[in-house]
Amino acid sequence: MTNQQNVVVLDVISCGVRNVLPPSSLPVAKSFSPQDLKMLLMKKLETEKGGTKINAWLDSMRASSPTRIRSTTAASLPETDDRSSWIVHHPSALSMFEQIVAASRGKQIVMFLDYDGTLSPIVEDPDRAFMPKEMRATVRDVARYFPTAIVTGRCRDKVYSFVKLAGLYYAGSHGMDIKGPSKSCKYKKGNQGVLFQAASEFLPMIDEVYRALVEKTKSIPGTRVENNKFCVSVHFRCVDEKSWVALAEQVRSVLNEYPKLKLTQGRKVLEIRPTIKWDKGRALEFLLETLGYANSNDVLPVYIGDDRSDEDAFKVLRERRQGFGILVSKLPKETNASYSLQEPAEVKEFLRRLVDWKKMSRRAAKCA
Ligand SMILES: [Mg+2]
Repeated sequence: MTNQQNVVVLDVISCGVRNVLPPSSLPVAKSFSPQDLKMLLMKKLETEKGGTKINAWLDSMRASSPTRIRSTTAASLPETDDRSSWIVHHPSALSMFEQIVAASRGKQIVMFLDYDGTLSPIVEDPDRAFMPKEMRATVRDVARYFPTAIVTGRCRDKVYSFVKLAGLYYAGSHGMDIKGPSKSCKYKKGNQGVLFQAASEFLPMIDEVYRALVEKTKSIPGTRVENNKFCVSVHFRCVDEKSWVALAEQVRSVLNEYPKLKLTQGRKVLEIRPTIKWDKGRALEFLLETLGYANSNDVLPVYIGDDRSDEDAFKVLRERRQGFGILVSKLPKETNASYSLQEPAEVKEFLRRLVDWKKMSRRAAKCA
């Protein structure tokens, strides 16, 4: 599927994703590793609503806190593990750079980049998560050499207002709202404009839930509710931990009224989104298909992200046995990523090295 205008629109499930799903997005039967089982437990806590005890929500909220070195939840590592043993299994993408580029020989690298905590630092006010100038220049260069997509939980327009680069693909609302490059770019292939959107029936519902959450949480100091078009984020990084129970109860009371919405969690954020089978992993597959790499071995997708929601994309890459997931984290975490980077500054260094390597290989090819 290289030309999106030729595809038929279809509903995947009753509450609707519109557009074509890649064949690879169909569920795959598999046996579960202990790591998979831990992830599944966390997912279960996230997706249950009415019957879930608030304690389970709180444990999950604590697990998402980047300030805790150790946590006691299912997604954390055993106490005996430390960073040095974790890094053996998830080595730095900088130290493995040569191996990564060697794996791309004869293949097209496609870059997928989360935004918050990956390209921009995590800040207290989500409206001020600006991207440093040098990072923007680096991402611009990356997009010159490789098809590049920003994949974020944010509203697509909002993340564009931060990134401000026209030659990229943007997948907002956890991939439920995807748009192609808006300016001439060799990877555009007629893919400008909106390529994928969740069914518009969710828009008034999300608006309603956003307003209800603003109202219900206004008594809890530090809460920040953000309307991300196809999902709503309730940020609690500025909320005193003593108020987390109250916050979880208020969010649950709103969510109970909307059976077509579910809760997921990120770093100090509760996210409410449609119960459709669509996430950052499906968005990655959709974009690969859009770029013409659906069933191709000539592609090396690289996905860099720091959040729980990025695990869906890391998992897809593992299942496809294709490309690499790179987790941005200073702390050991259960992850499906292959490699790690500690912070956005290291992401910038990795991307810069990738651009420099590509420039050098082109020069060498011309001289040969
Ligand atoms: Mg992030």
